[in-house]
Amino acid sequence: MQCERLKTLLREWYQEVRSFTLSPVKMMELVGRHIKQCAVCQNDPDLPLELDQLREIIRVPHTVSVPQESFTEEPVYLYEDEATIEEEEEL
Ligand SMILES: [Zn+2]
Repeated sequence: MQCERLKTLLREWYQEVRSFTLSPVKMMELVGRHIKQCAVCQNDPDLPLELDQLREIIRVPHTVSVPQESFTEEPVYLYEDEATIEEEEEL
């Protein structure tokens, strides 16, 4: 990491993440915003790798705001079987 400004910012943000006043996802957003405006960061060849390591450290989830739909699958045929049996008993 070549950018002194980013080093300082990362230290501040990391403290905030650790005290739960800043979310890891938000921190990476702020990092991205800095890099967009910073010539030093844009010309730092090691920075993408270091940001990957940072993501590991602050535990940014790889998928954000994806609902867990795999748990909602229901076997529909069980309900149909029960309904048929009840009808036969009433007659
Ligand atoms: Zn920078």
